[in-house]
Amino acid sequence: MVFMAMSKNCYSVPIGKKDVGLVVSDPKVHGDFLKHAVDFVVPEGTEVLAACKGKVSGVHIDSDEGGVSDKYRADPWGFVNWITIDHENGEFSQYFHLRHGGSCVEVGQEVEAGEVIGYSGNTGLSTGPHLHFHVAVENDSEVGWETLKIRFEESLRVVRKKSDFSEEERKVFLEMSD
Ligand SMILES: [Zn+2]
Repeated sequence: MVFMAMSKNCYSVPIGKKDVGLVVSDPKVHGDFLKHAVDFVVPEGTEVLAACKGKVSGVHIDSDEGGVSDKYRADPWGFVNWITIDHENGEFSQYFHLRHGGSCVEVGQEVEAGEVIGYSGNTGLSTGPHLHFHVAVENDSEVGWETLKIRFEESLRVVRKKSDFSEEERKVFLEMSD
């Protein structure tokens, strides 16, 4: 069976136009079931927007720590803050590494595309402040879900790997990763 792993829904960019800088989608960083995830390199406290109309189904904002040490590698889900929104067609979007307390929404709340839902951060397993964003569907794998290639409403320059960065992007990335 050929499965077109592309989202049915159309998503807007989860970071405001003024805040969009470097955008990276590197399958090597994310591993298989997260391979279509997109990382927006933005400072902590950047507004995070709902990428599509839907209903909030998960809010985890208790953590106030993150980094790349073994502690976070050993438990990549344990220290990360995130929000999940359910959409039509069984698709859901997730917004990871939010700052401590960084949610403006509650479970069960209906949201519109473009609505501010929270604030970015650097919690959990993370090399530096950024928003990790992905769209996924449930499946019968061990993890229980997989990411889809995101159909964005507007065109977005997404860099596939660090070696593809321009000189300027490399500078931004290094500054942000400190
Ligand atoms: Zn990521």
